[in-house]
Amino acid sequence: MVATSQTELQKVLEKAKAYIIDMDGVIYRGDMCLPHVPEFLQALEDSGIPYLMATNNSTKSPQEFADKLQGMGIDLGPDRILTSSVATRGMVEERYPKGTGVFVVGMQALHDAMYADGYFVPAERDAKVVVSGGHFGLTYAELRTACLAIRDGADWFATNGDKTFPTEEGIIPGSGAIIAALNAATDQWPEVVGKPSTGMIDEALQSMGTTRAETIMLGDRLDTDILAGERADMPTMLVMTGVTDKRELDASDIEPDVIVDDLEPLVSFYSAGS
Ligand SMILES: [Mg+2]
Repeated sequence: MVATSQTELQKVLEKAKAYIIDMDGVIYRGDMCLPHVPEFLQALEDSGIPYLMATNNSTKSPQEFADKLQGMGIDLGPDRILTSSVATRGMVEERYPKGTGVFVVGMQALHDAMYADGYFVPAERDAKVVVSGGHFGLTYAELRTACLAIRDGADWFATNGDKTFPTEEGIIPGSGAIIAALNAATDQWPEVVGKPSTGMIDEALQSMGTTRAETIMLGDRLDTDILAGERADMPTMLVMTGVTDKRELDASDIEPDVIVDDLEPLVSFYSAGS
């Protein structure tokens, strides 16, 4: 499989009214901004096309991601960044009234997303809702309380299903590994919000006020970004600057609508139109 032709790409871009953009592998790699990213974001701004960064990472707050981007020279408000913690909060809020007791298994960013404005209140075994996410400080006591609450009938949501988390030291347990531990103890599965589920996509669309058909899902991973877009019936765009290589792309059943080597063709398209 090769990069999409200019004509095909143009057809998709002409219909695009908004973007949901994955960050790792699309915007940056490690602490390095990827080529053409600042020009691409500027082109979207200049063309009046709204976009939202959407990440499965539940361990950092939007402000922390905004700070990270700032360090790479990308100036973006935290309101342009949707983490799976924030998306989970939005989804749970739609279903439960103010004052609902929630038990959180996760890091400060998830606690803040759930509790900061007082809509939900902290609860333990008597919680109506358990929310789990990636958690580098996980304790047995937290698993125990979550297990008891879920067994007592609490509804369980997970920010994302990623089993592992890439770090400089290597691969470490992610949110999905914590789901596996709680599943072993409860025989239950959570409702997962992050990609490839469409919960996060719906939260993103709601906040931009655009429809699925007119919003492009842009990402570097087939089994999360592109699959989420496919399930949501959105146009999907794979960029080859991240984890997917040609061999993986050829072997996969998941077929992006558009494939680009990097964001340069998008920059060209928008600068030609302005
Ligand atoms: Mg990515």
